[in-house]
Amino acid sequence: MEWGKPVSQLFMIGPAYAKKLRRLNIFNVGDFLYHFPFRYHDYSLVSLISQVQVGEIVTISGKLKSLKNIYTRYGKKIQKAEVEDKTGKIEITWFNQPFLINVLKIGEYYNFSGKIDFFGNRKVMVSPEYEIKKEELTHTGRLTPVYPETSGITSKWLRTKIAWLLKNLEKPVTDFLPEKIKKENDLLEINQALKNIHFPESLKIAQEARKRFAFEELFLVQLKVLKRKIDWRKKKLAYQFTIDQEKILGFNQNLPFEMTSAQKKVCQEIISDLSSKEPMNRLLEGDVGSGKTVVAALAIFISWLNNTKSILMAPTEILANQHYQTLKKMLEPLGVKIGLLTSSNKKPIANEVLVGTHALLFNKISLDKLGLVIIDEQHRFGVKQRSQLLKKTGKGQKTPHLLTMTATPIPRSIALTLYGDLDLSVIDEMPVGRQKVKTWVVPPQKREAAYQWLKKQIKDNAGQCFLVCPFIDISETLQTVKAAKDEYEKLAKNVFPDLRLGLLHGKMKSQEKETVLEKFRQRKIDLLVTTPVVEVGIDIPQATIIVIEGAERFGLSQLHQLRGRVGRNQKESYCLLFSNFTSGKTFERIKALEKINVGFKLAELDLKLRGPGEVYGISQHGFFDLKTASFNDIDLLEKAKKAAEGVMKKIKQYPLLQEKIKEDTIKNVEAN
Ligand code: ADP
Ligand code: MG
Repeated sequence: MEWGKPVSQLFMIGPAYAKKLRRLNIFNVGDFLYHFPFRYHDYSLVSLISQVQVGEIVTISGKLKSLKNIYTRYGKKIQKAEVEDKTGKIEITWFNQPFLINVLKIGEYYNFSGKIDFFGNRKVMVSPEYEIKKEELTHTGRLTPVYPETSGITSKWLRTKIAWLLKNLEKPVTDFLPEKIKKENDLLEINQALKNIHFPESLKIAQEARKRFAFEELFLVQLKVLKRKIDWRKKKLAYQFTIDQEKILGFNQNLPFEMTSAQKKVCQEIISDLSSKEPMNRLLEGDVGSGKTVVAALAIFISWLNNTKSILMAPTEILANQHYQTLKKMLEPLGVKIGLLTSSNKKPIANEVLVGTHALLFNKISLDKLGLVIIDEQHRFGVKQRSQLLKKTGKGQKTPHLLTMTATPIPRSIALTLYGDLDLSVIDEMPVGRQKVKTWVVPPQKREAAYQWLKKQIKDNAGQCFLVCPFIDISETLQTVKAAKDEYEKLAKNVFPDLRLGLLHGKMKSQEKETVLEKFRQRKIDLLVTTPVVEVGIDIPQATIIVIEGAERFGLSQLHQLRGRVGRNQKESYCLLFSNFTSGKTFERIKALEKINVGFKLAELDLKLRGPGEVYGISQHGFFDLKTASFNDIDLLEKAKKAAEGVMKKIKQYPLLQEKIKEDTIKNVEAN
């Protein structure tokens, strides 16, 4: 029997079942054997009937004495049976399984595995699994696998088929994992692992089998990532920039501050990429406020010195505008002309360096003399943009250097798997003098007091405050969630009549947005009611307070981003998290912000609590998923990575592996 043989050709599986199996992603024998249980019923405790205890889950073995359907008053059918062994009798009850009458034979010997309960004053076994007594058990008397099911396909059915398959393989499955790797990582051989993940003798051996498959999955992911990296290097050509140290010195001297050593380090890494003939493909990671923009500016300057065009993309118009202003300050004195391209500013004055939103710029990119593309604060780290760029660059054409910047830290596990083909630079240090933002979760009963405190801060301490609501319009929300427009009216009228309030949200025209922000910048507004549009990038250093409504609706990394709007100068800064939750998991989750102020740690925690699908929008987009392994298993990840690196060097010696990484079983990240 072959690994790739379609399931429809298997014993007792017709087209109808084959169709249902497709819903479980089972198409051939290999898929079938790789449909793993997610847990096991422990039916390994075998008991004599006279000794069963109420509450126990046991297996009994005996002769079926009687079986009948009983109709209850409510029209339901109950099945009652009596089973006997040499020590006594016990009653068995099933619910709504009238077909059992035709399946089980009176006088025959069976195993029954299930829970013992009280029924009136008798011990009864309730809804057990059953199976004819025989040598090799599948459903009873052992650890019994429980599988992901689909309608019309039960675990019992799957169990029967998989047991049959395992027994009827014509020859053992060939193991594609090299001996050496199995030995070094203490992994089961594939046939052993298959047997023991489905029908283990103990939970311990089941665990070992699972480890083998988790390792195998991570190992293959790593190999594919390595291959992608090698392919990108081999095929593409970039502009090889010459680096003029003198000019770089000039750039530095024009800055109002000295770069931190972390900034200097990543600049060096980027410079080294830019002077290579392979295109840079780098992710720059740095906590909010760590100063990524200046690094981007330097890269742009180098591209400009080499007579190629650069573009800088931001996720929002507000941020594009801000970057435009910043770049002007940093680069215009050096002779660089900057152009801004937004929906309200369609005719940029220059195009050597273009700043704009992701959406706008992408339509406009011409690869003609394009030397550098920088993508700022793109949540999914420019995956889409990368693939678009790759598609645009044909054979022989030059590919721009690519720098993606993010403040959403990628936990090591994700960096190793999903983005393993990117080179990583990290700014792991804040500019001197930055304050830790004091953070409190504020329960409903303290809201009033918090408003009073806020008033005092603004009046007596010249504080300025962002107040973030999850939504714009009340109609978008349940009445319990704050919406910016509505909240703005209410606060202005009832709570802060003597303060200057402003309103900023995503549906305003860009000119209106700019006007409001400019007023806030000039301190003509004390309190800015807004939506998460301020989440990324906004840099108004004198604002020292941020209040976040409905905090539980945001992820930890997002809250940290929002909080990063303050604490940008020497003054003490504050973050108030309003929530209706006062206890429980959700409450504890946001409480973490009171103690943890390192973005990277919050991301790790978020990942643990909510999973990569939620945090990185991965599962919704369906471009990546781990089946057996987990993103939390760093240890195994590191081992798989090491093993993959060793093997990749001499991949030609492993034809089976080469074949495996050619198949696109894991959908390619670039394909999204
Ligand atoms: P982010 O990494 O979040 O994009 P920015 O680049 O917006 O951060 O920088 C945040 C603020 O810190 C800006 O006001 C910037 O001028 C300032 N800044 C950047 N680097 C330094 C530094 N080395 N020393 C002092 N201030 C700096
Ligand atoms: Mg930024």
